[in-house]
Amino acid sequence: MKQKKPLYEGKAKVIFDGPEAGTLIQYFKDEATAFNAQKKDVINGKGVMNNYISEHIMLAVGERGIPNHFISRMNDREQLIRALEIIPVEVVVRNVAAGSICPRLGLEEGSVLNNTLIEFCLKNDKLGDPIIAPEHIFTFGWATPSELEIIIEDTLRINDFLTGLFLGIGIRLIDFKLEFGRYEKDGLIEIMLADEISPDNCRLWDAETNEKLDKDRFRRDLGGLLEAYQEIARRLGIKIPQNN
Ligand code: UDP
Repeated sequence: MKQKKPLYEGKAKVIFDGPEAGTLIQYFKDEATAFNAQKKDVINGKGVMNNYISEHIMLAVGERGIPNHFISRMNDREQLIRALEIIPVEVVVRNVAAGSICPRLGLEEGSVLNNTLIEFCLKNDKLGDPIIAPEHIFTFGWATPSELEIIIEDTLRINDFLTGLFLGIGIRLIDFKLEFGRYEKDGLIEIMLADEISPDNCRLWDAETNEKLDKDRFRRDLGGLLEAYQEIARRLGIKIPQNN
């Protein structure tokens, strides 16, 4: 078998060349990292869970007319995706205060925000993904005002849809992170959702108990990360083969 050469290796995924021009393969690893990779571990089976959960959510988001890079799941760990030019901005959506915003603004974890808040961070590990304003995005040419308008519109629609999807299975969507890119076809450029949507980049709390069912279990050494991801998959009705 021909050994595939990684085009890019991130903290939780590896990107390989796809079988056709304009496609890539996204491979989900078992590595868990937090605090800009200062904390690291391997959680056997996490990559498989995220592959299936992200497939489920990307398909549902696509059915609601929000373009995204997902084409198909190839196997337990790999997805075929469209090759995008990634916009180096992380779009963080917050419904409830948790994580980095709490110490930054002196908020108590769990306080419900008056409205959905969108924050932008520069996607740059070396700089620790600093928070940026839309003006930085325009000044440094990371995206144009009209591209950012589409990104914000898609983001708010995704938040509305996911909030409802998760509430329906007894889960509160606290916050999450999205990435977008440019897809070029026949000389036209379309903004598309990229990356993954999984408990690695969402905060998901049980609606009754507020139990954390996301990567905070790893960040805070709560244990039971894989079981939490399995619970999310189970409630979403996703069937995942055993022995991964
Ligand atoms: N997030 C992410 N990748 C990052 C930073 C944040 O997926 O590099 C997600 C994180 O899982 C959470 C949301 O974005 O759901 C908000 O994260 P926050 O800014 O509170 O940062 P953190 O607590 O991860 O430092």
